[in-house]
Amino acid sequence: MSSVLSADWVLPVEAEPIEDGAVALEEGRIVAVGTRDELGDGERFAGAALVPGFVNAHSHLEYAVYAGFGDGLTFDKWIVLHTERKGRIGWDEFLAIARAGAAECLRSGITTVADASFSGAAAGACDELGLRAVVYLEVFGRGLEQLKSRYEQNRARIESALSDRVRLGISPHAPYTVSPELYAACAALGLPLATHLAESEAEQRWLESGEGSWHVFADILPPPLGETGIRALARHGLLGPQLVAAHCVKVDAEEIALLAEHDVGVVHCPRSHALLGCGVAPLAALREAGVRVGLGTDSPASTPSFDMFDELRAAVMGARAREERPDALSATEALELATIGSARALGLVEEVGSLAPGKRADLAVVSLAGSPYLPWEDPAAAVVFGGSPERVLLTVVDGVERYRRGGTEWHAVTAGATSARRRLLQSPGTRALT
Ligand SMILES: [Zn+2]
Repeated sequence: MSSVLSADWVLPVEAEPIEDGAVALEEGRIVAVGTRDELGDGERFAGAALVPGFVNAHSHLEYAVYAGFGDGLTFDKWIVLHTERKGRIGWDEFLAIARAGAAECLRSGITTVADASFSGAAAGACDELGLRAVVYLEVFGRGLEQLKSRYEQNRARIESALSDRVRLGISPHAPYTVSPELYAACAALGLPLATHLAESEAEQRWLESGEGSWHVFADILPPPLGETGIRALARHGLLGPQLVAAHCVKVDAEEIALLAEHDVGVVHCPRSHALLGCGVAPLAALREAGVRVGLGTDSPASTPSFDMFDELRAAVMGARAREERPDALSATEALELATIGSARALGLVEEVGSLAPGKRADLAVVSLAGSPYLPWEDPAAAVVFGGSPERVLLTVVDGVERYRRGGTEWHAVTAGATSARRRLLQSPGTRALT
């Protein structure tokens, strides 16, 4: 591909938008950002904006084909269905599904994922399809057994997929499934850490008092902590800048202060929070407190897709509805959230999240041609409100073209994922027939 790309607008995110802008790439890095006059046309995209690749700060690629499963069920019923179906498939299917998830991300202009991975298959998928990733291997439990069993096993299985582009992390799942001892043992590994925190009222109720609808899981969960997860992790010295926490919907002022004080990265997943009936996270309060907040799609197990444009719009709508003011989150701020904000939350800001010389050449080209957003007024608003995966013309990771509209088909990836979904939907009794 050409070493210069140009478009009607370049949105560097950390600098003002550039009309008739261009970006020059060399050996996987951005070497210059400027105007077409300065850098030349290179490959020219008319009616389009060139943006930093989106950084999806919380995903589960291995659930890419779970769309619609258990829609509308309460969490206790939903998790039983999710777990039971997941038990019907093996490694090959996990990998097939994760490939489809990686492809869907690239198609949506996403160039980096922070993926919580149950089996580790996300690492192989990102390696193959060219997506940048931190793959956090999930562990669960009261004791430390899963560090030796699940974590070590999965790490060995994905070893060959790890690289500078696909990195290893660990994810103690959540304070209701992981004891403080296991959190501490994970932190001691010195890897990037991801977890789920303060997602729902039912979770908080269970953790604080052992009551509510989650009581039915008392036999399999660690004992309730007698306090919320954030307070418990703070008390055990387990909140810190190496930790990125998805959700943080049900947080009070004191918990927000704890997240800020300990410099925990937080991932806002507004579609997931809405669809699971968890609420609208206090994004404005988190940002005002100085918390590093990024944006994540979560997975089709709770949201319908890895569509970052839908996520951006949900973030804007949720923030404005909650705060009852139209300036609670501008389109420009939303775009920052999904790029530089996520990069900051993940500790990757030196490498990705904006278009600047020296950073990795991770970017996307979004066409607004034929949309009501042309002629241009505000290019950030056009991308956020008018963008969609169908409008992504090109996605580049490390200077390598990984998706081009009309040129990248992924037929085998789609077929593999469809067959895995079919397996997930079969009742256990019919499995032997296939
Ligand atoms: Zn999650």
